[in-house]
Amino acid sequence: MQIFDIDLFVIGGGSGGVRAARQAAQRGARVALAEMAQMGGTCVNVGCIPKKLYSYAAHYAESFEESHGFGWVGEAPRLDWELLKTNRAREISHLNGIYLALLKGAGVQIIEGRATLVDAHTVDVGGKQYRAKTILIATGGKPSVPEVTGREHVITSNEIFDLSPFPKRLLVVGGGYIACEFASIFNGLGSKVVQLYRRAQVLRGFDDDVRTFIAGEMIKTGVDLRLNADVAAIERTAGGLQVQLAGGSSVTVDAVLYATGRVPNIQGLGLDAVGVRQNDEGAIQVNGQYQSSAPSIYALGDVTSRVQLTPVALGEAMALVDHLFGPTAGKKPRNMSYEFIPTAVFTHPNIGTVGYTETGAREKFGPITVYRSEFKPLRHTLSGSSERTLMKLVVEDATDRVVGLHMVGQDAGEIVQGFAVAMKAGATKAVFDSTIGIHPTAAEEFVTMREPFKG
Ligand code: FAD
Ligand code: NDP
Repeated sequence: MQIFDIDLFVIGGGSGGVRAARQAAQRGARVALAEMAQMGGTCVNVGCIPKKLYSYAAHYAESFEESHGFGWVGEAPRLDWELLKTNRAREISHLNGIYLALLKGAGVQIIEGRATLVDAHTVDVGGKQYRAKTILIATGGKPSVPEVTGREHVITSNEIFDLSPFPKRLLVVGGGYIACEFASIFNGLGSKVVQLYRRAQVLRGFDDDVRTFIAGEMIKTGVDLRLNADVAAIERTAGGLQVQLAGGSSVTVDAVLYATGRVPNIQGLGLDAVGVRQNDEGAIQVNGQYQSSAPSIYALGDVTSRVQLTPVALGEAMALVDHLFGPTAGKKPRNMSYEFIPTAVFTHPNIGTVGYTETGAREKFGPITVYRSEFKPLRHTLSGSSERTLMKLVVEDATDRVVGLHMVGQDAGEIVQGFAVAMKAGATKAVFDSTIGIHPTAAEEFVTMREPFKG
């Protein structure tokens, strides 16, 4: 029998890696974690957190504007971009410190540097080798930019947070989460934003009603959204970046953000040498217990390219720790369920969604009933804003179970989180109907929709 000094060696100190390392150490396992950049990974440093802070910043613009209808007079303040960046950086570095302290407090050995697999039980960091019974790869993902003439001029979400100077004109390429969020955010912060998406409607995979509705709302706020559009070439000129579009027209901007998806972070890890199988895109393939084709090596989070969300990486980490080291005393082992994962897109207004789209539900369940409500929120009766809210319920006829819930509107993410609990618990439309609303809120609409939507 081999003797190991380390029970679990975690590669990557992002959402999944930190959670797995900490919880395993709290169970008494001997844990080491290697991180080659800042602790906290994508979410903390260049993802969810700084993005949400900038989204808050951007919302002030409309709030200042809307306040006039509520009797506030005077000029709106102007954005100090440098101050926003400084304050964001301070908060992120505070969070880096918290993550580090939590890991150290749990007894995790922190190793700074890039880790490479030597064999199925050995990891090399900076020339020093560590032997571990089990290795967890939680190295996340990185932005992917397609080949395009002038590619060297473009930025990704990694660079956008510290852009200097503030981009007065921004071109965003893509129609997914990141493209839509940053188009909204920079539009709110004061950039003139053009967004290009190569197909007929943004946010492929979301409910079709939601996609059309958010596109309309984003256009109303000022985003110049161009569908069925793509970049042909980008050139730096004295006036800025001149972008030739596929149709022949051009736009000149200060920055071009490519938000065209992310790929697993696996380069230099030495996966092939140790027999860790990947799919065609490089994602590490794992079984239901996050075990790769090399039995002592596990993987979770974005590097497995399943559902690329922080709470999913956290859920996977907790399930893996229970599997490897046993559950907390008196508790059942946690499992990760991939059904009814709620998600939000922090566009302006937000999207919140959980469960099946109308089309997806029809395919999966057969007969369904749709309830749909579109309205002007109370706040906008005085604000002067033309923003509208969309809410939609999808109900399986055979069981009366609510299998899809979608919202576009202020705080949609906050609202949908609670409904996701009800849906995990199997709430039926009758349960929704018997729930008393909270008045006056937008959310009460979800429990007062009575008439099926006929389309
Ligand atoms: P990561 O958090 O990416 O961590 C991987 C870590 O591994 C990194 O710190 C990296 O430096 C390290 N690493 C890589 N290779 C090595 C190596 N060889 N040796 C040592 N260290 C290594 N999700 C949400 O749920 N909500 C959001 O609002 C949201 N917003 C996002 C906004 C943006 C702009 C982006 C890009 C992502 C966003 N996400 C959001 C997705 C979320 O950030 C990821 O799903 C999550 O961070 C994945 O966690 P992870 O542990 O798999 O990887
Ligand atoms: P997405 O996969 O969501 O979107 C990528 C977009 O780029 C799609 O619109 C895609 O088009 C388009 N695209 C892909 N390749 C090309 C190309 N060659 N030329 C032009 N357009 C192209 O990826 P993101 O980068 O936006 O985000 C990655 C993941 O991070 C998300 O899927 C999500 O899981 C996570 N995330 C979560 C957030 C949240 O929870 N709020 C926020 C940000 C990210 P097509 O539809 O045609 O494929």
